[in-house]
Amino acid sequence: ALASPLNGTRMLPAEMDRDVFAAAIKELRSIVGNDWVFADAQSTVSYNKSFIPDPEGLYLPSGAVAPASVEEVQAILKVANKYKLPMWPVSTGKNMGYGMATPASNGQMVLDLKRMNRIIEVDPDLGTALVEPGVTYQDMHDYLEKHNLPFWLDVPTVGPIVSMLGNTLERGVGYTPYGDHFMFQCGMEVVLPDGSILKTGMGSVKNSTTWQAFKWGYGPYLDGLFTQSNFGIVTKLGMWLMPKPPVYKPFMVRHPDADDIGKITDTIRPFRMNNLIPNGVLIMGAAYQLAMFHRREEFWSEEGSIPDDVVKKAAAKNGLGMWNTYFALYGTDEIIAATEPIIRGAFEASGGEVLTEEDMGDSPWFHHHATLMRGGMSLEEIGIVRWRGNGGGMVAFAPVAPAKGEEPKAQTVLAKEIMGKYNFDYAPAYAVGGRELHHIIFLMFDKSDPEQEKRAAQCMEEMITRFGEKGWCAYRSSISTMDLVADQYGDTNRQVNARLKRTLDPNNIIAPGKQGIG
Ligand code: ADP
Repeated sequence: ALASPLNGTRMLPAEMDRDVFAAAIKELRSIVGNDWVFADAQSTVSYNKSFIPDPEGLYLPSGAVAPASVEEVQAILKVANKYKLPMWPVSTGKNMGYGMATPASNGQMVLDLKRMNRIIEVDPDLGTALVEPGVTYQDMHDYLEKHNLPFWLDVPTVGPIVSMLGNTLERGVGYTPYGDHFMFQCGMEVVLPDGSILKTGMGSVKNSTTWQAFKWGYGPYLDGLFTQSNFGIVTKLGMWLMPKPPVYKPFMVRHPDADDIGKITDTIRPFRMNNLIPNGVLIMGAAYQLAMFHRREEFWSEEGSIPDDVVKKAAAKNGLGMWNTYFALYGTDEIIAATEPIIRGAFEASGGEVLTEEDMGDSPWFHHHATLMRGGMSLEEIGIVRWRGNGGGMVAFAPVAPAKGEEPKAQTVLAKEIMGKYNFDYAPAYAVGGRELHHIIFLMFDKSDPEQEKRAAQCMEEMITRFGEKGWCAYRSSISTMDLVADQYGDTNRQVNARLKRTLDPNNIIAPGKQGIG
């Protein structure tokens, strides 16, 4: 049987009777109290706003439940197992471009962990933190300021409202030297589907004082199993914080042409490998940058994709190139004075203009990226949902490329071709890791226009499929394309994940469909 609607904005899980659902809700209310179960149209509004294309309405929750403690999470899972009511955990549910808080299939109940928002510990000597799911980057930022602690955070693009734990579990990235969040994660507490509690790494050792200091523990390394997965509910997460450097200097490098992406990549690669450029570099496409602070109609009113020459002209007017690369140096004046000329020389040889605060101080783009690269709070990128129309539609496709110029160059050509075919604007960013690039392609559309919404879904599918044929796959995906991407990682990978799922979660109650599992 198909899932049946509870009303226009909520769905029952497939094959669940209304009575069974009502009985489960009653038990959930007795665990968390009436106020923290959301099971009517009004109170679930904030949980079904996904921004992604969902022309057929396949990703609607049945409601939400918000526990306040680990014990309540355990009790909720007991009810979920009893009634086979699937639970979709979120920490803050701000997974922008990937579905926000909405589940990978209709009828799952959002398990909203926002009330579990304690900063349990920050060790001032080791620079380690232990946090609950509801702790946002803003919360931690405020905590560090209040206690005058000499550490920086590493935030993703809409950091202030986003959970540290949620972003790290999705293997999100930021833009300081601690940009790869999972790399700087250390220790987890997980409630398994049967209610038992696992502490990973040193956390399982009685009286251990090294839970947040040593990642690997003993035996198989388990933390990875709980990232981008549905094997448990993570209720605590350890993170490492970056010591605040005495001096920080942000740079922007402006390149004029769309196909400069190859040269830029080849210039950055050696510096990321030898760590002369220590941070998570962003190579921002002009259209993406424009979308942060402008609306499409200011530059282009046609249905078809905005042409390169129009983007280029609008960018130039705003002090931007077709590609704008943001990196930063950290340390002392002496250290920066020694490395800056080496990097500057290499970028200049690639045809880039290397710019600093002095040159770009008034630019809101420079300001935004300079803020990100020191782990500061900025919400500016939310602006991109307003680029086209009034419906606020946005979905991300994020294929990975090795940091070798020809590959991102070819990815850019392919993405532009496919998006052009569907009349969408190619607005890219490349986030540079150690030896690869996350190519972040935001597809911005008007979600109030059903035809455009359908076209956006088709465009995503073709992009994922055609990139996949070349061996380029996403590092993360929207809930609407999880199966498609999981298929590209092959049968054996899917089967191993399925076996783990059956073993750990035989009733398939945690986030079925997440990353194509369960
Ligand atoms: P953020 O708001 O930080 O971007 P979300 O809270 O939306 O992140 O979480 C992103 C995804 O990570 C969720 O859709 C869910 O699949 C997973 N997730 C989040 N929190 C947890 C958790 N505590 N335990 C297990 N999975 C989680």
